[in-house]
Amino acid sequence: MLAAVASATLSGAVGRPVSVEVHVSNGLPGFTIVGLPDAAVREARDRVRAAILSSSLPWPMRRITANLAPSGVRKGGAGLDLPIAIGLLVAAGELSPDCTEGLAFCGELGLNGSLRHVPGMIALADATSPLGMVVPLCDVREAALVRGDDVHGAATLGDLTRILRGQSGWPEVPAQSVVPRAPSAPDLSDVRGQAVGRRALEVAAAGRHHLLMIGPPGSGKTMLAERLAGLLPPLPPADALTVTRIHSAAGCALPDGALLDRPPFRAPHHQASVVSLVGGGSWSLRPGEVSLATHGILFLDELGEFPVAALEALRQPLEEGAIRVSRAGGTVTFPAAFLLVAAMNPCPCGEGVYEGACTCTPASRARYRRRISAPLLDRFDLVVPLSRPDPDELLARTPGEPSAAVAARVAAARARATARVAPGPGSRPELAPDAEALLASKLRSGDLSARGLHKVSRVARTVADLAGEGVVSFAHVSEALSLRAGRAAVVV
Ligand SMILES: [Zn+2]
Repeated sequence: MLAAVASATLSGAVGRPVSVEVHVSNGLPGFTIVGLPDAAVREARDRVRAAILSSSLPWPMRRITANLAPSGVRKGGAGLDLPIAIGLLVAAGELSPDCTEGLAFCGELGLNGSLRHVPGMIALADATSPLGMVVPLCDVREAALVRGDDVHGAATLGDLTRILRGQSGWPEVPAQSVVPRAPSAPDLSDVRGQAVGRRALEVAAAGRHHLLMIGPPGSGKTMLAERLAGLLPPLPPADALTVTRIHSAAGCALPDGALLDRPPFRAPHHQASVVSLVGGGSWSLRPGEVSLATHGILFLDELGEFPVAALEALRQPLEEGAIRVSRAGGTVTFPAAFLLVAAMNPCPCGEGVYEGACTCTPASRARYRRRISAPLLDRFDLVVPLSRPDPDELLARTPGEPSAAVAARVAAARARATARVAPGPGSRPELAPDAEALLASKLRSGDLSARGLHKVSRVARTVADLAGEGVVSFAHVSEALSLRAGRAAVVV
């Protein structure tokens, strides 16, 4: 007998509908899965058999074939265990075909018959719409973020067969456990001194300007970067759903049944693989750090230590706000629109020219600088030199200005920018005559390229927005120029 059960599989951060057809026939007993399954799906045979036997359900000693349609789509992950098991029970006559009508099933089976969490539940829930959806009880809240009341859950395969036979009802979804919200970003009040670094964070947050901080160890680069997320406004609902969807597809733990509504902060280590940075890795094509940082911050500490291949891989997301990942399993596009913040030492020994204590040879300094290509350096609107704080500043008893106060100015500046008529590509903000003259002189002297001119204008506009002023003044342009002064430390 033949049964068909609706389900879905994950391809990148997107779900694809899958129909699981199970055929049970006379012949040599065996169990085959066809239709481009990955290794995890092939292993479903063992999990499905063990789960059915542990649930005191009969295993048909006949020839079983499961076909995953459409056959052109690769199927990954263990989420197809449940629809295969349900299809098998229908084909074997244990369940009536009527009871799976109008429902789609996604879930992994434990050998003891339990239903287990599968990653990407939000995308799978999208893909199975408009059918009702049956998922592991622990995944109901996540699927319900996009499907509302159409989602049912069960804890075990045994429970689910009793429900489908009409012998019991759907269980209550466990009350939302009080999961502490992700700890909020550390506060800027912990940072003493560091006027330049603090100002750079504020401008970066207000204008979404990519920021590179250059300074010796102990100059507070990492401490500052970690506090940037706390200056960004909470995510609007559409962005929160995008962020939650990506984290769900990556299998990250989500706050119980809630959207991730704070901008994410991702800080991959420089030894992280290129795959973990950009995504991919298997047929199911997991999103990488650049995508997990979408609508938030990607922080690359020790930028000079990242392999060239990893840095080059950042160019596409920085230009397009998305990244295409190609692997044997096909090509998928992930969102990858982040604010890039990086930190580096000025030279291999870390001391650099600022401290006057550099022990590096000119050759090793030059080699170090070459690791940051000119096109990558050009991506940073703000390149600020930092030095170690003054002992007096460190010992000061007055705390720094708290993040909330800075975040309020950032929000006001963003509101002003939004209220202005959206500038066209390449258009420049309105400048006071002396501000215009300052830029012209920098352009003529060769201190600024055409691209640099555009960036300085944009940063000056943000500085004016933070000051609540409509016209960009000489002072705003001067500050914008000073906020890229660190380029001198890395441009060979
Ligand atoms: Zn040095």
